[in-house]
Amino acid sequence: MNRKITIAIDGFSSTGKSTIAKLLAKKYNYIYVDTGAMYRAVTLFAKMNKLVDQDYLKKKELISCLNSISLTFQFNKDLGFAEMFLNKKNVEKEIRTLQVSQLVSKVAAISEVRRKLVAEQQQMGKDGGVVMDGRDIGTVVFPDADLKLFMTASADKRAIRRYKELIDKGDDVNFEEILFNVQERDRIDSTREDSPLVKAEDAIEFDNSDMGIEEQFERICNLVDRKLSE
Ligand code: C5P
Repeated sequence: MNRKITIAIDGFSSTGKSTIAKLLAKKYNYIYVDTGAMYRAVTLFAKMNKLVDQDYLKKKELISCLNSISLTFQFNKDLGFAEMFLNKKNVEKEIRTLQVSQLVSKVAAISEVRRKLVAEQQQMGKDGGVVMDGRDIGTVVFPDADLKLFMTASADKRAIRRYKELIDKGDDVNFEEILFNVQERDRIDSTREDSPLVKAEDAIEFDNSDMGIEEQFERICNLVDRKLSE
């Protein structure tokens, strides 16, 4: 029962991957790695340094800065999960804005960015006992993961969830803008050349358009328990 497995959760934006991943990490006492936060932090760095915005991407310049970007997670006991630090500064709030969401897929399509982050992710998960969520975890980062989940839901349902989240945080956003962002990120993430978002052959798919978190979590825990007892 002491075996520590690797759980890979991939899927479209706002499908509740991180909610499930956090619950799993807590229940099984595993490390949770939010790989989207890492791509968001690189995007924030690029935005702050005027290397990316809606109408431009200075790809070469960003690539030449990659060595000066340090990404770390620090566990926050009160929140119960690890927060993202960019060059030693807590950027947890800044990386979740719609402005960053609108730029992140462009940055995440750069192979050199992916190479750096994938290497860091593999290092973080090398000893198992990890739940990692993203777009390429079961296909590229940990193709041999013990359990692979692939989350989907209708774009409308996902946009409603994301809209509520941002409104609750006090952000001034409109629904149409969020829906467009969700669809646009799906499009870019699924069609990019390097590590596109695809379901790994051996991943188990969850469409949670009409499934609550409790039901999903229970089903997933059953899958984890089965793996642990193998
Ligand atoms: O998971 P989250 O929505 O925060 O991810 C933000 C973006 O980061 C995604 O839309 C995608 O472009 C990129 N990403 C990625 N590969 C991952 C995780 C995230 O390309 N493993």
